[in-house]
Amino acid sequence: MRGYGPDDMSTRFDLTSEQADFLERIDTFAREELYPHAQRMDDEDWFPDDFFKRMGDAGFLGVSVPTEWGGQGLSIFEGGLILQALGRWNHGLALAYLCHDSLCMNTILRNADDEQKQWALPDLCAGTKVGALAMTEPEAGSDLLGSISTTARKDGDGYILNGTKKFIGNGPTADILMVMTRADPQGGLSAFMLPSDSPGFEVVRNIEKMGFRGTTWGELSFENCRLPAESLVGGWNRGHRVIMRGLDIERALAAGIGLGIAERALELCVERAKERRQFGKAIGNYQLIQDKLAGMYVRVETMRTMTYRALAAAEDTAYDQGGVGEIHKLTAAAVLYVGESLNWILNQAVQIWGARGYAWEYEINRLFRAIKVLEIGGGTTEVRKLIIGQELMR
Ligand SMILES: Cc1cc2nc3c(=O)[nH]c(=O)nc-3n(C[C@H](O)[C@H](O)[C@H](O)COP(=O)(O)OP(=O)(O)OC[C@H]3O[C@@H](n4cnc5c(N)ncnc54)[C@H](O)[C@@H]3O)c2cc1C
Repeated sequence: MRGYGPDDMSTRFDLTSEQADFLERIDTFAREELYPHAQRMDDEDWFPDDFFKRMGDAGFLGVSVPTEWGGQGLSIFEGGLILQALGRWNHGLALAYLCHDSLCMNTILRNADDEQKQWALPDLCAGTKVGALAMTEPEAGSDLLGSISTTARKDGDGYILNGTKKFIGNGPTADILMVMTRADPQGGLSAFMLPSDSPGFEVVRNIEKMGFRGTTWGELSFENCRLPAESLVGGWNRGHRVIMRGLDIERALAAGIGLGIAERALELCVERAKERRQFGKAIGNYQLIQDKLAGMYVRVETMRTMTYRALAAAEDTAYDQGGVGEIHKLTAAAVLYVGESLNWILNQAVQIWGARGYAWEYEINRLFRAIKVLEIGGGTTEVRKLIIGQELMR
């Protein structure tokens, strides 16, 4: 794993030539192969079933998973570049990718034993199976660690799960799920990995979203769901550690999606400002419009620097770290800045597009409806501020 040296990403401000080539490759793939699906996904809440398989075939799944488990043996940083490119061209698929590759696969990679990895990772890396991570519940949102009430009870050499999970990305369509539970009788947290055909597991419903449409997102139930002993991941009552290890990485990767959306919004606005003529001139000639474009540009560039810094730092996070210290503060700050800036950027962008910005059928409107989630998912803006404040006061 890379350390903090003078040649390291954390002290540089741009991509290496290999990383720039990688971004170019995934950007071309996303523009040519995935962008054509974006409108239909938004209009019909439809998902292209071959997405994960095509990403696997193209070598874009399991980027940070070692090759022995079927992955690409690259790094979390490349995972962020993939999300940046997907964010630019089809953010709905970026969310599905995050839930599969980062939330589910990374959690398995960092916490499971070799036998469990062999069971799950090759199929997830090939895209022949889809993954999800189910933590949130109707009564367990921001206070996740304190409020999880889905129970796991020891039963002979196995476990029995009962409870409900809600707002789970890929949940309704996943083949392999990581699930966070609380020991019954009331105790610590434990993580389980299970196939979706486990008896007692059921998809209650898919929940319709205002943005990032097409990606499935739903409510799941466990009713006397019996799992074998080998389903327990990371140890009994060790779930707290499993969650905290992954959250910082998720935040750095989610910032990549926001960066891609912001880049695309700026591009669409510059094009529009050059094309749209009112009062005899292209609107981009008016300084009030240039003021908006300049503000967008400054925020996009700052987002890029913070996102790449957070990704580089997440890359350097050892397997047993995360959930505390510099990486916790930096990743929270990156995604906080990205989420808040996206709100400002898309508000200006719709203004530049005028009535077209307000019409569902335009791309800029799709981006506008999407971005609020960057302030909610994976820990809200308020929770990120609490993290930064607590770390500064430590
Ligand atoms: C598109 C999308 C995909 C998601 N995917 C997944 C997934 O794959 N897996 C999964 O497990 N979860 C997923 N989630 C759930 C997500 O992680 C939660 O929505 C998030 O943790 C916030 O919880 P909540 O929505 O219940 O908000 P709440 O916790 O109910 O918060 C409501 C409001 O109160 C504020 N608040 C709460 N506590 C405090 C406090 N102490 N101080 C100040 N303000 C506070 C919050 O910031 C927020 O503004 C997803 C959510 C979305 C929107």
